[in-house]
Parts: sequence; C-alpha cells; structure tokens
Amino acid sequence: MLSKRAESLKPSPTLAISAKEKALKAQGLDIAGFGAGEPDFDTPSHIKDEAIKAIKENFTRYTPVGGIDPLKDAVIEKFKRDNGLEYKRDEILISCGGKHALYNLFQAIFQEGDEVIIPAPYWVSYPPMVELAGAKPVIIDTKEEEDYQITAEMLKKYINSRTKGIILNYPSNPVGSIFYRENLEEIGKLAVTHDFYIVSDEIYEKITYDDYIHVSIASLDPEFKKRTIICHGVSKTYAMTGWRIGFTAGPAAIVKAMNNIQSQSTSNPTSISQMASIAALTGPQDSIAVMVGEFKKRRDFLVSELKSIPGVSCYLPKGAFYVFPNFNAFLGKRLNGKEIKDSSTLTEILLEDYHTAVVPGVEFGKEGYLRLSFATSMDVIKKGVERIKKAAASVV
Ligand code: PMP
Ligand code: GLU
Repeated sequence: MLSKRAESLKPSPTLAISAKEKALKAQGLDIAGFGAGEPDFDTPSHIKDEAIKAIKENFTRYTPVGGIDPLKDAVIEKFKRDNGLEYKRDEILISCGGKHALYNLFQAIFQEGDEVIIPAPYWVSYPPMVELAGAKPVIIDTKEEEDYQITAEMLKKYINSRTKGIILNYPSNPVGSIFYRENLEEIGKLAVTHDFYIVSDEIYEKITYDDYIHVSIASLDPEFKKRTIICHGVSKTYAMTGWRIGFTAGPAAIVKAMNNIQSQSTSNPTSISQMASIAALTGPQDSIAVMVGEFKKRRDFLVSELKSIPGVSCYLPKGAFYVFPNFNAFLGKRLNGKEIKDSSTLTEILLEDYHTAVVPGVEFGKEGYLRLSFATSMDVIKKGVERIKKAAASVV
C-alpha cells in the first residue's frame, strides 16, 4: 500500500511527454518534439574537459553535502558579477539540479497550514512540490493581455496570516514573461510588511532576448534580500541538463536547514559535475550568446508562424525557450472526428494524428493554451509548425 503522498502524486507532465516522445521515436515514428525544455546544444568543451580531468584525478569521492568551497565561491562570484549581490559561503548551497534546490527549500520553509502564492501560468512542478511539503498552493491568474504581470493590488487579495511565501519565476517557464521592476518592488514591499518569503527562481536569467536585462528582486533592497531565496542552476545556461547541478542563495539559517535535508537524502551532488560547474561559471561565457542568438531566431520564426494561424494568438517571450500560444478558439470544435474538449485532448490529437509533441497549458495552470519548447532544431520546428498548421486547417 502506497503512502497518501505517493498515491496522489502525478509524474512531471513535461518529463512524461518527453518520455512518450522518445518512446514513439524509438518505434521509428518521425515525431516533431516540442516537449520538455532542454537546450539541444552540446555542453561546451572546456566544461567537459574539466569533468574528464576530475575523473582522471580521482575526484570521485563524497564531497561536503552542500558542495565544495571552490564551487560555492564561483557561485558567490556569479551573484556579485551578474546581480551585484554579496553572499557568504554559508548562504550558498549546491544541489542536484535547480529542481532539487527548490524541493529542499520547500521542505525547509513550508509546512501544513501554510499558503504559498504561485502566479499562473507556472512551471509544472511548483504546486506538487509545495503540496509535498504539506502546504497549500494559492494560484493567482496572470493574463497575456496584461503582459503576465502581478501587481500589488492583485497580490493583496491573496495575502493572509497563513501566507508563507510567493514563488516568482522570471524569465518564466512557460511564457517567457518577466516581472517589471516596479512590480518586483511592490511584491518585495508586501513580503516585508506581511513577513513572507520570496522564492526567486532565476534559472532562465541568461536566456533573454531583445533589450531585456534580468534584475533579481533580491538586488532591489537589502530588506528584500533578507527574505529572498534564489534558486538557480547550470542546466539551461550552459546546456548542462544531465549534469544535475543547481544552487541556492539565501539566508544562512535556511541554507543550513536545506543542507540538513540534503544530508539525509541525496548527500552531495556529483563530485565530477561540481568540478565541471566551476569551469562553467568561471570560464568563457561566449557560448551563452551563441545559444541565445540561435534561440532568438527560432523564437521569431515560431511566434510569427503560430500567429499566422487564424484564431491563434501568441505572446512574444522575453526570455527562456518556450512559446505559449493561445488555442482557446479551438476548444469545443472537432478535429478528425474528435472533440477538442481542452488543451489535453488537443495535445493528444496532435501527438497521435500529427506526430507532434507539445505540453497542454492546463498543466501550467492555464487552460486553452499549449506549450512548445523551441530548444530544438530549426528543422524540427519547421516540420512541427507545418503539422500544427495542417491540424488547425482541419478543425471544424
Ligand atoms: N525551474 C524552472 C522554471 C525550470 O523550467 C526548470 C527546468 N527543469 C527547473 C527549475 C529545474 O531545472 P534543473 O533541475 O535541470 O536545474
Ligand atoms: N524545465 C523543463 C521543462 O519544463 C524540463 C523538464 C522538467 O524538469 O520539468 O520542460
């Protein structure tokens, strides 16, 4: 008999769709995959070399649970260089991916009776992770036509004595929106007044387009920094999704609690990946601009193609590598004799009949939308978008 916790837990839908996509490809089907978001670029050579060196030099034993000091120092340097933020070693924790950092954090600060505010559309794993910590996710809907902002006015309606935190993700998965500086200021002030934590997921910090410059909420006011915990990692910036290194910066007491949780669960993140991550954070950064330049071309193409479909609107992402087109006009209609009840049925039809894998918007808290990752080759994007256009043209 499973625990209640496990019984009600669904697998991550993004990872489930990418597993399905891989399984169909293995059967020989030509699937256009817009599923899980991970850069299709190779990890830069100087990073891989450092890992090989670590293995050869037998850096293959347990490390301190929360990561080795040179990596913590590289993270400290990153925050100073990129965000003007000063941290000490006891305010930094290295975990097995950004997801693990978030999980540990929620276990450390949230519990039964707490409410955690999550703006929707949100990344799929936030609500289940909050629930695994025993707390209640409180969803605030944000809108395409309002640039997916949250204002103080909106937020105030959801704050009460049980509010323990808010989760901010900017640039965001799945829409690639950012929060305006003035809104971050207002959110920070409310967090100070009502004494709640700000979880700031900045994993897409470096993947931004046009003239957007990332500003961390923690850098706006020392009082905000005191209650902000930044979760970050090397997965997206350096095309290192498989290496599993994430990091957290925040108040020492919270970092210590997270370290204790980590010491009773995973122990240290992989020693070899830690060495590679030092090279990633301190070595040449030019691979980022190359990757982002390529993503921008794909974004522009994909958004303009999707917008050319009658009835579809599509927000132009300011960062990250996802588009989140609005297919609400198709709900209730029929495609190949099947009713498009919701974004999940549309996703199923696209996969079964058009061999195109996307993620339903409902998984991100927004019905009627689809999420497509453009961290995939231009060839796949062109092929996939043609299939989606063909499907759209057959909707009756
Ligand atoms: N936060 C967001 C918003 C993400 O999209 C991801 C992607 N998986 C993560 C955190 C975690 O990434 P990782 O565990 O690979 O560092
Ligand atoms: N963050 C990526 C995504 O949203 C990777 C999959 C996951 O960890 O959920 O697709």
